[in-house]
Amino acid sequence: MEKSCGAVEKSPSTLKAKKLLLQLVTNKKWYDSSSITMEGKPEYHTQQPGFAPPPAQVVVHHTPLVLGPNPQSITCPSCHAQITTAVELENSTKTHLIALVLCLVCFPCVCVPYCMDSCKSKNHYCPNCRAYLGRYEN
Ligand SMILES: [Zn+2]
Repeated sequence: MEKSCGAVEKSPSTLKAKKLLLQLVTNKKWYDSSSITMEGKPEYHTQQPGFAPPPAQVVVHHTPLVLGPNPQSITCPSCHAQITTAVELENSTKTHLIALVLCLVCFPCVCVPYCMDSCKSKNHYCPNCRAYLGRYEN
């Protein structure tokens, strides 16, 4: 706090300055002194609220298997057996979106994407251990 008072040093009289400095140390209301003409409030060097870096997000990457629409001969990452994947069709977001669009255009056509294999995502499973291996979306 003593060091922040630059106005005292600018005072023409060094003796007066020393007196003020003493006053500053002993009396905290130094800025009420009539000899100081600077603005009333002392400057507080407040620390800025922390700009702490956001916590690092741990992203777990699964090695994506390149799977096609048809059953594939691969080595199962789960049971490490040489298998041919079992493909199961599943309604995906795309299926529902197509259905929604068809609903607006032509209501009886809503069921069409649910009947078409090409509108569904194809999930690959291991026939050996039933592990989910990946999906193919066209
Ligand atoms: Zn398996």
